[in-house]
Amino acid sequence: MTQMLSRRGFIKLSSTAAAVASLSSIPGTLGAMEESQKHYKGNAKFTPSICEMCTSSCTIEARVEDGKGVFIRGNPADKGRGGKVCARGGSGFNQLYDPQRLVHPIMRVGERGEGKWKVVSWDEAYTFIAKKLDEIKQKHGAHTVAFTARSGWNKTWFHNLAQAYGSPNIFGHEATCPLAYDLAMDDIFENGVSRDFAKAKYIINPSHNVFEGIVISYARQYMEALEHGAKVISLDPRLSTMAAKASEWHPIKPGHDLPFVLAFIHTLINENLYNKKFVEKYCEGFDELKASVAEYTPEKMALECDIPADTIKRMAREFAKAAPKAIFDFCHRVTLTPQELELRRAIMMCNVLVGAVEQEGGYYLNKGAGFYNKFLGETDAKAPVLKKPKIPAYPKVEFPRIDRIGEKDSEFFLAKKGNGIVTLIPKATLEDLPGVPYRLHGWFIARNNPVMTQSNTETVIKAIKAMDLVVVMDIQVSDTAWYADIVLPDTTYLERDEEFNAGGGKNPTYDVGRQKVVEPIGESRPGWRVAKELAEKMGLSAYFPYKDIEDYRLQQVGDNIDLLARLKATGMASFGVPLLLQDKKSVAAFVAKYPSAASKVNEEGTIDFPHKIKLFSPELETVSKKGALSYEPYKYKEADELYFINGKSAVRTNGHNGNNLWLNNLCDDASVWIHPKTAARLGISNGDKIEVSNKYATQKGKALVTKGVREDTVFAYFGFGHISKELKRAYGKGVNSNSLYSPHVSANCGMNLHVVGVKVKKA
Ligand code: SF4
Repeated sequence: MTQMLSRRGFIKLSSTAAAVASLSSIPGTLGAMEESQKHYKGNAKFTPSICEMCTSSCTIEARVEDGKGVFIRGNPADKGRGGKVCARGGSGFNQLYDPQRLVHPIMRVGERGEGKWKVVSWDEAYTFIAKKLDEIKQKHGAHTVAFTARSGWNKTWFHNLAQAYGSPNIFGHEATCPLAYDLAMDDIFENGVSRDFAKAKYIINPSHNVFEGIVISYARQYMEALEHGAKVISLDPRLSTMAAKASEWHPIKPGHDLPFVLAFIHTLINENLYNKKFVEKYCEGFDELKASVAEYTPEKMALECDIPADTIKRMAREFAKAAPKAIFDFCHRVTLTPQELELRRAIMMCNVLVGAVEQEGGYYLNKGAGFYNKFLGETDAKAPVLKKPKIPAYPKVEFPRIDRIGEKDSEFFLAKKGNGIVTLIPKATLEDLPGVPYRLHGWFIARNNPVMTQSNTETVIKAIKAMDLVVVMDIQVSDTAWYADIVLPDTTYLERDEEFNAGGGKNPTYDVGRQKVVEPIGESRPGWRVAKELAEKMGLSAYFPYKDIEDYRLQQVGDNIDLLARLKATGMASFGVPLLLQDKKSVAAFVAKYPSAASKVNEEGTIDFPHKIKLFSPELETVSKKGALSYEPYKYKEADELYFINGKSAVRTNGHNGNNLWLNNLCDDASVWIHPKTAARLGISNGDKIEVSNKYATQKGKALVTKGVREDTVFAYFGFGHISKELKRAYGKGVNSNSLYSPHVSANCGMNLHVVGVKVKKA
């Protein structure tokens, strides 16, 4: 404690002296973190929590023993993940005690991106931000400040702050990751959808490398499926770990998944392989779908996707035969293209056409409390619905959002406001967007790193430099923080409590959110506290009607003390029995537990879908004439260029964990994959330094000459080529893929495009 106080004293001194220096020369800010390890304290037993080393949010247990060490393991109560964590999850406490971590608020004193800062107190930081936000409000209007928060809990706090301040421009990170498939499932099923990989007999995977872009439960389920003899088809332009484990690998032409899927649907319909009974009973829009794919014959589409027509037809027949234990995986990421929403809708329709929905080994609808309770009678117990504290009405905003969600003719009308189209922020700062009578002047960014994660890095930096205020809250001086006016030190996930979460798979589930394992280091503070304290400084405390996070959680569970205790003790809870609507055995078990649900069972012993499944979207047709499926060829590259694609590494998947010491030791400089024939033509040998360039950027890397990639394609791992010099281990290493990508976004979903043309030469 004595040393902690003396360190604080030093910081105060640095602050009052208004020290102007690079961070590494401010001892006690980043440099003296090892010292702080002497002071941590925590529980003497495992505390259930949620990992935050990537977005998969695995359930974990973390232990602090005698103040000497922390161990992280998977939560044994979580059957889906089997009580396991990946390498990133296991390195969580390495992030916690990283000497390069930010533990005090810092303010820019040089030019943006110059790396000159001074340490300030929280009060100085809040006063500065509140004053600047007020100035922008007076000059341009509160609506000209965008608020981005990466994930659920931070969205709760900072989106609340944004709307209380008067801005409608609230965003998550979704448009750089899952938005296309989220929108596709909302449009087709009016519900979230998951996949029962473990029980499937046939899986088609269009380049979701679950063994590196890891989702532990998916990876385990894929292995289970392979072990029981399932056939797994990988459509990936490179031989990823997924492709290597698959039964067949078909290196599809980058960005040409859609023509493959359209030909696949054409075959299912033309050869009468689809499930007529299922389609007639539960779907609408089949005739429009049939008409829309009529021209996309396998022979014609084979020329586009580079997979022979006979192979496409053979796969469609095998898929239909394996149904309902068949999955066309809609995937987390594929080679993102201008027709991303169309692609994800088309993939999901394959499963619908063969009736592989709500059955073992197929797709199933995510059943949150609301969905599940629909099938229960009044007298049966219901899955608890989490509540939110009552917040006063937000000030009315006269201006549209930059993505115009909420306007009836918005191209992005399907997206939810809390997700928004974050990829439009740079454009909305630098240009006038149609129908948007203003430009953005400020950006408040909580645990999001758009400089690293959004396409066309140069445009993102240009937009940031044009803004009047950029605030970043992070655990480190990220690539985005590097250009900010003020950087607020967030707690790591091991130092904070969060709100409870409700979700649903086959039945409703709840998790504890994150639980504090150790006290926050230095001056780091959790998001709930920062948003609340900043609101108080801005005179907006009425919008934060809770004392602290414990009070917030209590309000969430209402009087359900049992759920509160279960969540805190075990980290997770599920409710009731699993339910698959089209599976007779599952329905019978559900009715046995909830007898009043018998009235919902049809003459076939199953339960009907609550909505028609849409094979044609009247809403998309109205807004963009894209109700039916269609394929629009896109020129990704010039004739003398190669396709450039990226993917995730198993140990450094995300933009934010690239500087982790342990993960760096495992993988510190990813090479660019290039085919031997292409390498020979360009005079490149394995390990040569190379230059990868196009009209957007030039990047330097090392060549990995391998047959595991198409001749016309080069591949690099995402999450390299960091720009912030405060990320000392990762700075400048490897190729920054996003700098090479185009600033254009995909229609109706705003996804970044992840296929582009590049030239490669020896450096
Ligand atoms: S996949 Fe790994 S890093 Fe991601 S949440 Fe799970 S354990 Fe953590």
